[in-house]
Amino acid sequence: MSQQQKITLIGAGLVGSLCAVFLAKRGYQVEVFERRPDMRKDNISAGRSINLALANRGIYPLQQVGLMNQVNKMVTPMKGRMIHSLNGEQNLQPYGQRAEEVIYSVSRADLNKLCMDAAEEKGNVTIHFNHRCLDVDFEKNLLLIKNELTGEEYQHPFERVIGTDGSASAVRDAIHKVNSTSNRVEPLGHSYKELCIPALNGDFQMDPNALHVWPRGGYMLIALPNMDCSFTVTLFMPNEGDISFKEINTEEKLLKFFNSHFPDAVPLLPNITQDYFDNPTGNLATVRCTPWHYQDKALLIGDAAHAVVPFHGQGMNCGFEDVSEFDAQIEKWGSDWQNVFSETDRLRKPNGDAIADMAIENYITMRDSVRDEKFLLRSALAFE
Ligand code: FAD
Repeated sequence: MSQQQKITLIGAGLVGSLCAVFLAKRGYQVEVFERRPDMRKDNISAGRSINLALANRGIYPLQQVGLMNQVNKMVTPMKGRMIHSLNGEQNLQPYGQRAEEVIYSVSRADLNKLCMDAAEEKGNVTIHFNHRCLDVDFEKNLLLIKNELTGEEYQHPFERVIGTDGSASAVRDAIHKVNSTSNRVEPLGHSYKELCIPALNGDFQMDPNALHVWPRGGYMLIALPNMDCSFTVTLFMPNEGDISFKEINTEEKLLKFFNSHFPDAVPLLPNITQDYFDNPTGNLATVRCTPWHYQDKALLIGDAAHAVVPFHGQGMNCGFEDVSEFDAQIEKWGSDWQNVFSETDRLRKPNGDAIADMAIENYITMRDSVRDEKFLLRSALAFE
């Protein structure tokens, strides 16, 4: 296997940065085009959720590249789901009987930065920030790149391109222009909004070792702990209807809604109005496509191949597993890229579909069982 081969990644999010670490460890020349500025220098949000649940399927790939020692210093263990009933009762549902059966809350930005640093430290990875991929010409092996700072567009040659550019992937669109069985983005009709429970006198305001859930059927709150003793709270709610982002559009309606449905959370959310009206509303959708690769030229992994709704907290974990499987196929097939890509696709696609289905099923269960609180408590957001 020639270790001098060049591999191009589009997207330096969680999956792209970790993939760069794996490829660099194998000695490839890795170049990454990322449309956003460098989050280690510019104070930009890492996009989407502020923190994430990291579970076993995501931990193993981090262990494989020796990053777990550092990741361990930035996580808060969560030993179960803390269910908040309407009457304010809290009920812990442990993830397992043994102490090690936990999942971890981790900052998306910190994890992303760690993976970028680890990739660049290898010496054979270059990340081009503020460079967006617009299209891929598979006949001529050329990428169309736009410099987001100058507006300049130019062509750039590639040998192999890996689409790690998330749910609105340009690489996926390019593959499906030349070879498509199916390429669907299925909107859920629900969106999310992040709020904050700040630290009080330097301490957490709720049990930090739990993933807090307020299941209420068609809408719900969850909260994950942060290292600074705050919690990031996410409100999931329909886009339209009686209780929806469209309908709850004044401070009065917001406070009435929270006081009726999440009364025990209200005293913990001092900036609820500002958070609700200032923070962006994020859409939720499932991406399903076939194939995930094109010949020996391109592969999709992470959300680019299988964005899922976050009701199992497994999107990133599943994307990290893709990276590990991709690496295993390189180990097996060397520079036979046709097989590396087609086997990664064949082995991972059923897993991506399964996670997508489970996440939707969990959402439907919660939505449709609005009146049965006991049932709701059992089926509340899995995140495991
Ligand atoms: P992304 O994180 O989307 O990264 C893609 C990168 O590519 C970005 O940096 C983007 O700027 C860049 N990019 C995009 N287009 C281009 C282009 N054309 N050219 C160049 N660069 C480009 N998962 C979990 O495992 N646990 C959780 O608890 C969890 N919670 C979640 C909560 C919410 C509210 C949401 C929305 C998602 C959650 N997820 C969770 C899912 C998780 O966020 C994703 O699965 C994960 O971010 C996928 O990583 P990625 O690198 O594939 O894509």
